[in-house]
Amino acid sequence: MTATESIYRLGEFHSFDAAGTRFLYLVPSGGIFALDEIAAAMIERLEQGEASRDRLLADLTARGFPSVEASEAIDEMHRTRALSNGEVFLDNAQSPPADFPLQTLVLNLTNQCNLACQYCYEFGDDKVATPEGKPKFMDFETAKGSVDFLLKQSAGRRHVHITFFGGETLMNFPLLKRVVGYATEQALAQQRSIDFSLTTNATLLTPAIIEFLSDNRIGVTVSMDGPKDMQDKLRVFSNGRGSYDLVEPRVRALIQNHRTRPITARVTLTSGVTDVARIFRHLKNDLGFHEVGFALVTTSPDRLYAINERGMDHVLEQFHVLADEYLESALRGEMHGFSNVSDTLAELHQGVSKSHPCGAGLGLVGVGPSGDIAPCHRFVDSDRHAIGHVSTGIDRDRQGDFLRRGNINTKYDCHQCWARPLCAGGCHHEAFVRYGDTGHPNLHYCDWIRDWTDKCLRIYGAIAAQNPEFLDRFTERKS
Ligand code: SF4
Ligand code: SF4
Repeated sequence: MTATESIYRLGEFHSFDAAGTRFLYLVPSGGIFALDEIAAAMIERLEQGEASRDRLLADLTARGFPSVEASEAIDEMHRTRALSNGEVFLDNAQSPPADFPLQTLVLNLTNQCNLACQYCYEFGDDKVATPEGKPKFMDFETAKGSVDFLLKQSAGRRHVHITFFGGETLMNFPLLKRVVGYATEQALAQQRSIDFSLTTNATLLTPAIIEFLSDNRIGVTVSMDGPKDMQDKLRVFSNGRGSYDLVEPRVRALIQNHRTRPITARVTLTSGVTDVARIFRHLKNDLGFHEVGFALVTTSPDRLYAINERGMDHVLEQFHVLADEYLESALRGEMHGFSNVSDTLAELHQGVSKSHPCGAGLGLVGVGPSGDIAPCHRFVDSDRHAIGHVSTGIDRDRQGDFLRRGNINTKYDCHQCWARPLCAGGCHHEAFVRYGDTGHPNLHYCDWIRDWTDKCLRIYGAIAAQNPEFLDRFTERKS
């Protein structure tokens, strides 16, 4: 077929407007493209139907665009895949190699917790863990083996990361201290670096622990659901008493005295705990968290704390309110602190096009107190999902099965969805809880995901048009 016989049609993209400009979000490359006048005219023309190159050129010149310019613009749009002339573009989302080097190890120091949050995926009705007969607390030998495993499996990476997790992480603080010392020493001996973070419910924080965390630059995420009425709804002790009064002064002390890393709050939204803006303002403005991120509870739809459709709509509305505030701050060059936007902007800025929804089982694995390796912290202690042991390494067959199921290529329902470069079907753990298969796409809130992704795209476009330097900070940020 000669160039003059080429038939052009629209490629696969999602278009959106921001700051008076039309943009294309190109699927599957994950690129974002601002349309100039001629490109916008071309898209408008092809929205009415496909056209040969000659026809397209004639229509563009009839609208006043010089012929040479129009011809170059067609080539450019074809190169970006906004136009196709019959080719089938393969997704950029290529499958990673089986020996993909590890980057992050999530160490579950204990599977015990001093709270009894009713929605907890580790203890609640939806739990996947089978901890019976396994150690409740990790010992130093297992932790050492885990660090050695990480350093061995991350060959080629200069920098690696350990996240401490639980149960309640700080119930095994003595081990955490020893691991930080051992891992730092081992990494240094290999002329590599390692950094640490932890997630905690904050109930066990003391001045000495805060000092240690600050001195060792350990990033802290506090699981907290907002002001007292919200926090005490489900984040309770086993006798039903709320945890806010215990947590609040400890969080204030943490934020005041931990000087080396930003402190983040992570909120789990459940039925009745959907007042996102009020929660955000309390955590950010009253308590002083640097960033606040929200996640919807992972559960079956029939649980009492599951969010119904109206609740989901309410959450989305509130996300939009905070996202608009985020944009105003960004245009002034200031960080707002709503990390759900920052995380998505980082992925958009990096042009992410995912083969898998997250790093689970790839660059990230979880290790339970017994030394069993799981795809991530949420699958720790689950026999069904174990993919090895730190003493024997990763079982490549089990890992391969997990990754094959989770690959976007096998999620046929997602193949026509423009949001797939970022979503890739959603969390494996949520898919298992909801559908009994880690590889099932999370089809129960696709409209929600697409609406939110569209909102983040508009914010990205507006910032790119009006204060592009702000986006530089997302070049490195991990989502
Ligand atoms: S799960 Fe839904 S929103 Fe996500 S990629 Fe698949 S179809 Fe799209
Ligand atoms: S599977 Fe879900 S919980 Fe685990 S790392 Fe991925 S997104 Fe997070």
